[in-house]
Amino acid sequence: MAVSQRLDLDQALQRMLMDVVQPSAQEAVATGDALGRVLAKTITAPIDLPPFDASAMDGFALRADDVAGGPPRTLMLSGTSLAGHPMTAPIDAGQCARIFTGAPMPAGADAVAIQEDCTLEGDRVRFEQPVRSGDHVRPAGHDVRRGTPLLERGRTLNAFDLGWLAASGIHTVSAYPRLTVAILSTGDELREPGMPLTPGAIFDANRTLLRALLSRLPVDVIDLGIVPDSQERIAETLLQADQDADLVICSGGVSVGDADWVKRVVEDVGSLQLWRLNLKPGKPLAYGRLRRAAFFGLPGNPVSAVVTLLLVVRPVLEAMLGARPTAPPMTTAVLRTGLMHEPGREEYQRGTLRLVDGVGEVTVTGDQSSNRLASFAQANCLIRIPKAYGDLEAGTRVMVLPFYGLL
Ligand code: AMP
Ligand code: MG
Repeated sequence: MAVSQRLDLDQALQRMLMDVVQPSAQEAVATGDALGRVLAKTITAPIDLPPFDASAMDGFALRADDVAGGPPRTLMLSGTSLAGHPMTAPIDAGQCARIFTGAPMPAGADAVAIQEDCTLEGDRVRFEQPVRSGDHVRPAGHDVRRGTPLLERGRTLNAFDLGWLAASGIHTVSAYPRLTVAILSTGDELREPGMPLTPGAIFDANRTLLRALLSRLPVDVIDLGIVPDSQERIAETLLQADQDADLVICSGGVSVGDADWVKRVVEDVGSLQLWRLNLKPGKPLAYGRLRRAAFFGLPGNPVSAVVTLLLVVRPVLEAMLGARPTAPPMTTAVLRTGLMHEPGREEYQRGTLRLVDGVGEVTVTGDQSSNRLASFAQANCLIRIPKAYGDLEAGTRVMVLPFYGLL
């Protein structure tokens, strides 16, 4: 493909995803340490849940037949079944047992009458309400049947998943390995936060930002620092990164300015597959491969860098990690005020989303210039504006991507 070709976001993503090398290795990870890790093997339930017929309530276990024709009916109390302390003797005809939530059903019993519907009289229990077989009993396997798939290969494990695995007694899982991601910033103007700011210089925001965003994924980050706008230094750094990392993410230096060496270096040592996206912010975006590692060159503006990281890098990196693609968690909302948009490319503006009388309303956070960090300060979502649209009026329904869990 010609590197100068301009692609829409979804086309670009499709091509990048086709190019992704799936992980081939896998490793055992303790369930308790597996948050965010990607399953390399589908897990099937090793046991029934619950593992035995259990009571769903506090009350009395009985044979429903024994109280047929009632109420009321009276049975002999013959024992107790507590959670963790099953009753060993079976329930014979005419008998019942005290039972508590989660306790195993005694053999012979097929129903539980809740305690509110019973009266205890010495060693006898009077059942005041009708009881049907199966009442308040959770049969073994009612929740999960042994042998059914619990979690599929390619699933990114969340906190609930870990709890579910633990409930099934699974203490290690087979996961795809963590990947290594190298990050660097390019630009003669960049200074490390904490260092003096010389005339014409600005602080490097992107490495801190990228590191934080990447910390939510199962990757180890190598921070290669700030690299000046020098072809030699950029080449040297990228070649080193290529040896140490699976993915190299660089920011700045990917447009067509004189000092923008990154593109040339990538073309030199590897291949550049795409460097213009029909996306705002995020037009200059380089994607390719160094000798071995995958490569992303993000725009230097921190706002553009975050947006492209969320919309482009994250899905590609997730695929590299072996995760099955999931649609971004978008929702719809109504524009509270109008917004400006020039037709021609898809745009993501920063917005504040809130619920007003049960309806999602979204407001643009002021000036959307991609150099304006403040446009993110009040934002809790991105507003998607399709490329064919012009200016949008208040009241228009739009798609939004809430930041919840992403930033
Ligand atoms: P570039 O993509 O190199 O043309 O940079 C675009 C704009 O983003 C310029 O104003 C840069 O000074 C600024 N910029 C580049 N890298 C960073 C960074 N790491 N942190 C903050 N601003 C940056
Ligand atoms: Mg630059």
